[in-house]
Amino acid sequence: MKKQLIRQTREHFQHRYHQAPEALFLSPGRINIIGEHVDYNDGFVLPAAINKYVCFAFRKTDNEMISLDAKDINESYSLSIHDNLVPVEPMWVNYLLGVLDELKRRNKKIAGFQMTFSSTVPMGSGLSSSAAVECGLAFALNTLFDLGLSRQEIALIGQQAEHRFAGVKCGIMDQFASVFGKKNKVIKLDCTTLDYTYYEANLGEYSLLLLDSCVKHTHLTSGYNDRRNEVEVGLKMIQSQFPAVHTFRDCSLEMIEQLKTELGDIIYKRCLFVVKEIARVSQAVAALQAKDFSLLGQTMTETHWGLSKEYEVSCPEIDFLVETILQQEGVLGSRMMGGGFGGCSINLIPKAQEKTIIATMKSAYFEKFGIHLNYYPVKISKGTTQYKKA
Ligand code: ADP
Ligand code: MG
Repeated sequence: MKKQLIRQTREHFQHRYHQAPEALFLSPGRINIIGEHVDYNDGFVLPAAINKYVCFAFRKTDNEMISLDAKDINESYSLSIHDNLVPVEPMWVNYLLGVLDELKRRNKKIAGFQMTFSSTVPMGSGLSSSAAVECGLAFALNTLFDLGLSRQEIALIGQQAEHRFAGVKCGIMDQFASVFGKKNKVIKLDCTTLDYTYYEANLGEYSLLLLDSCVKHTHLTSGYNDRRNEVEVGLKMIQSQFPAVHTFRDCSLEMIEQLKTELGDIIYKRCLFVVKEIARVSQAVAALQAKDFSLLGQTMTETHWGLSKEYEVSCPEIDFLVETILQQEGVLGSRMMGGGFGGCSINLIPKAQEKTIIATMKSAYFEKFGIHLNYYPVKISKGTTQYKKA
């Protein structure tokens, strides 16, 4: 798959610009094992880069023109390095212009270049194709023009590009995972300080399977904003009773139980989820280190039902996928991944059963919802990199 992607991207570049590319880059999508909706609640996340990539091909030119080309959607866009950068139509260009603008803001000088990109990261399925695009470009330009950026700066540039040019106020997890990913390692990331630690993720007889519900319920944005407001109110109420509490990390379940009546049913449930989820990330890391895959899976499933019943960001389609896969022999864990209200579930399954599980899930999902299920078996892979042989 990777080799084919690289070959096709290289050939397309040759066809499009009548010359071979001088450099190729790979920028991966990402998963998150656990730590959902806690990035904005002073918690930790546990993402990893995966073996699905955006592949970029480049050649520097001796003029001041930038040629951008999106092979998968057969669209191109040109500009001069001196152009004033503002968001434009079509949308895909913004993920790239946002990066060029961030470089300008940091006074990082580039010259003209020709580029094409193509991808095996499904677009808009929650595997963060957008971060892979942003960080791939920033990484490539850093290499080609010797800009002296660190990996952390590259991730931050990607995040800012998404904020300013795509209008999505995302956290840092997606870009960080894409840039810092390592083969067979998950990253425990503190989203507030950007401190991080790698943990070995050899899953033995088990593997990770993503099931794409192919639904996106429209209340994603409103639901997200509502949750942010609810936990903010909750934290303030907790702090007024317990002044030593600065963040949810300082909260105990006892504190929340004690304030149950004052918090009210909804805010109580939201706070309960956050405190439990922060603890679950540490529990998942301990389980991984001990190679206790049953406990890891069980923790992921607990996260799911917390997201569904306490945080209320799941949806019937994803709940069905989780319930149904957990009935399959040997499956250890399942949960919704990402913002919620649709998208993918991430599942810890016995490798040997993969084909049977996929077939069962496809037919069960179609029978229930009339929707064709997409699925992505994934491996944990290394982060953004230059492909040596251009
Ligand atoms: P996600 O990041 O979960 O995949 P987003 O909606 O954040 O979903 O980003 C998807 C958008 O990123 C696409 O709509 C498109 O504009 C851009 N994009 C991603 N991959 C490609 C690609 N291969 N070619 C062109 N545009 C892409
Ligand atoms: Mg995205």
